[in-house]
Amino acid sequence: MNELLWLLIVLAVYGVTAYKQTSTQTTLIAISVAMVVGTAADGFGIIAWIIFAIIVIPLSYAPVRRDFISKRLLAFYKSVMPEMSTTEQEAIDAGTVWWDGDLFSGKPDWQKFHAISQARLTAEEQAFLDGPCEVVCRMVDEWQINHVDADLSDEIWQYLKDNKFFAMIIKKEYGGLAFSAFAQSRVLQKLAGVSAVLSSTVGVPNSLGPGELLQHYGTKEQQDYYLPRLAVGDEIPCFALTSPEAGSDAGAIPDYGIVCKGQFDGKEVLGMRLTFSKRYITLAPVATVIGLAFKLQDPDGLLGDTEDLGITCALIPRDTKGLDCGRRHFPLNVPFHNGPVRGKDIFVPLSYIIGGEAMAGKGWRMLMECLSVGRCITLPSSAAGGAKSLALATGAYSRIRRQFRMPIGQMEGVEEMLGRIGGNAYLMDAVTSLSTAGVDLGQKPSVISAICKYHLTERMRQIVNDSMDVHGGKGICLGPNNYLGRAYQGVPISITVEGANILTRNMMIFGQGAMRCHPFVLKEIYASQMKDKDEQLESFDEAVFGHIRFAISNTFRSIWFSLSGGRLSSAPFKDETAKYYRSMQGYSANLALLTDISMGVLGGSLKRRERLSARLGDILSNLYLGSAVLKRFDEQGRNHDDLPFVHWAMQDCLSDLEEALDDFLRNFPNPVVGFAMRALVLPFGKRYTAPSDVIEHKIAHILQHPNSTRDRLGYGQYLTQEEGNLMGDLELTLLNIVKCEPLFDKICKKLGEKLPMTNLDTLAERALKEGIISSEEADLMKEAEAGRLRTINVDDFDNQELLMSTSSKVKKPAAKRKTANKAKAEPTSKAKAESASKAKAESTSKTKAKPATKAQPKAKPKAEKTES
Ligand SMILES: Cc1cc2nc3c(=O)[nH]c(=O)nc-3n(C[C@H](O)[C@H](O)[C@H](O)COP(=O)(O)OP(=O)(O)OC[C@H]3O[C@@H](n4cnc5c(N)ncnc54)[C@H](O)[C@@H]3O)c2cc1C
Repeated sequence: MNELLWLLIVLAVYGVTAYKQTSTQTTLIAISVAMVVGTAADGFGIIAWIIFAIIVIPLSYAPVRRDFISKRLLAFYKSVMPEMSTTEQEAIDAGTVWWDGDLFSGKPDWQKFHAISQARLTAEEQAFLDGPCEVVCRMVDEWQINHVDADLSDEIWQYLKDNKFFAMIIKKEYGGLAFSAFAQSRVLQKLAGVSAVLSSTVGVPNSLGPGELLQHYGTKEQQDYYLPRLAVGDEIPCFALTSPEAGSDAGAIPDYGIVCKGQFDGKEVLGMRLTFSKRYITLAPVATVIGLAFKLQDPDGLLGDTEDLGITCALIPRDTKGLDCGRRHFPLNVPFHNGPVRGKDIFVPLSYIIGGEAMAGKGWRMLMECLSVGRCITLPSSAAGGAKSLALATGAYSRIRRQFRMPIGQMEGVEEMLGRIGGNAYLMDAVTSLSTAGVDLGQKPSVISAICKYHLTERMRQIVNDSMDVHGGKGICLGPNNYLGRAYQGVPISITVEGANILTRNMMIFGQGAMRCHPFVLKEIYASQMKDKDEQLESFDEAVFGHIRFAISNTFRSIWFSLSGGRLSSAPFKDETAKYYRSMQGYSANLALLTDISMGVLGGSLKRRERLSARLGDILSNLYLGSAVLKRFDEQGRNHDDLPFVHWAMQDCLSDLEEALDDFLRNFPNPVVGFAMRALVLPFGKRYTAPSDVIEHKIAHILQHPNSTRDRLGYGQYLTQEEGNLMGDLELTLLNIVKCEPLFDKICKKLGEKLPMTNLDTLAERALKEGIISSEEADLMKEAEAGRLRTINVDDFDNQELLMSTSSKVKKPAAKRKTANKAKAEPTSKAKAESASKAKAESTSKTKAKPATKAQPKAKPKAEKTES
């Protein structure tokens, strides 16, 4: 009995050291002390010490361990692990591991996490957001852009160039803005809230493409020539990688270049003969310089011994003879410039290769190294910006639109949507802040960028769907007064680009995450590939035993988390968020443990088990998204009023995470192992459920009432209350309707009638006459009514107006929101003052007519009609 007790004590001591991830030395000392005390208390005899020595000596004495254990493990490892291809290797090597590494460690350090400095704007960046960004948002006429011109106006193009919107990533020495990643993100958020054509046009030159590649790899000559021209928009770049035969599998592009001699500028030079067919290339139709990826071959050995040099990136000027560029695709009715680029046997000099001849064949590495930064910024920020604007707009609309004599936002079914919209918008903004803060700290977070791209575009899809449902017909009928329908049409674009989402979730997040973030996996792979046998064994031994200790530690951590529900773990704060930190601590250990068991059981075949990988990736992703939410809450001063958003986001992430955990265990190919893993990590079933009705009710309430929490959610978006800004108008109308509600109730009470809240202008006249309200209050009610009608009305058109015309003469429709209900709506004094400056901007912005495109209406749409 005594022996058993002491054995358990020794095991418990080992468990504690493993849980704490102490060093081997500390572990041995702790166990030895327990053994000595146990011996003194007659718990252990000589047999116990012999067993102890048999186990411990080979494990702790490196030469013995290497020869007897590690050598065999290495042989086994080499037999089961598949070879890594060069493209895979380069993708894995590119980028850095940051907070994602901690989340994979089984023991994330929350103090370190909260010490990550908060992303902030400089005065210059803030001025850019308040100045040029605000102005360009004001210049946008979405209907004109999407339905009539299929392009931004000439004036917007010029304004973007003049104000260096295409030069946010270009260094100051070349005339660029050199904005932080966080500032770029805020700019794109703001633009995306207004126009997807605008945000994608600005996003692409600032993402992966010629500008970025030149700064990192260009020759001095290339940098000096192109970067100043790109900075001021004298050059418009695009980057062409995708081919009809190679979409997601971009490494398989069939486009090629053959090294040869040829004539260039009247001289014979060494160059390449390029043959390529690219498609889906954003900005290609208007680009002046095309970044081109192709496979370079040197059959005649003009550059050296290697025949297949590999993927190479070059810059091809638009006027290159034989370049076929200019035709357009039409991506889902969101007409940003996108189209094919083709060429056959085009001869260009080798100096067109980005970085010159020395970078021939290094294109894939260049792309992988740069991809992670752009992917962290452009699409996630555009999604987050759209989400913020739509959260406010849908909240306002829900309060203004009434059915069954109450605002639709008070109906529980609509509250569910609003809860999801608000919670998602809060989370998405948090994620862009954290990720761009990482980029600004010098990270190239390849795994995090995949997480951001996938999850934020998916959450945006959810928000747009929910918003459409809440808006009903208002979202469906397109026209100058519809701020939602195009977003709904266009949302699959961001799902597809920069790594299509199914691929990103199933292959990239965990595929790269397990390799890059796991503290030992990559070390084992590299060790197994070493040429020097002694060095190989030594490195492998170190990695594999580190790995074993790591796995044991996570087993103990997982068991402890399962038994205690995480209640005894430490958390950096003692408030309502503490439970989330504790839970995430446990899930981190679960992730590491399940990864190790899966790799052990499935070996290299785990790579092909995409659905299992995707679920492990979901666990990692939700840990990242959740930590971004907790960081945002802390950075914004732990404001109690924001807690509904925090609870929604955390419960959503953690219930999703558990769903992934459960699905992973249920579908694990070896049911016995699956059962054993469940016993370790989820013995009592799931702990989290989806956010409750109460939380969603609170969020719905916040979104429908002007308040500081709501303001924080929409902060930075174009919400200025001025003519032509549909979002600003919604904000103003919400304010007026909320102010009118007590007046309306008072009037109904005095009149003794239960009236519908419509025709407020007529009612105001009546109430004024009967002395129930003052003339100021009557004016407020009239203004609210005009805004209410603007909000609920949709556009209608003559049949002819909707017919597409091939005519080159197009009338510009005057029907922006500002003209709708003009007879009834009086702008506020603020709007009046601001409209004067707008009118000035417009007088210049409407001077030039855009050249006609094929898809244009014959006549301008009419949007002045009002209904009640
Ligand atoms: C509007 C638009 C703009 C673009 N802009 C550019 C640009 O400027 N430059 C450029 O070079 N490219 C651009 N692209 C290409 C884009 O980035 C994607 O790489 C490309 O669209 C994906 O190829 P695909 O559409 O042929 O889909 P496919 O590769 O055929 O994929 C089809 C589906 O299969 C899935 N899939 C593929 N492989 C796997 C896998 N191993 N596991 C699981 N699922 C998988 C994908 O996720 C996708 O859902 C653009 C594309 C679009 C639509």
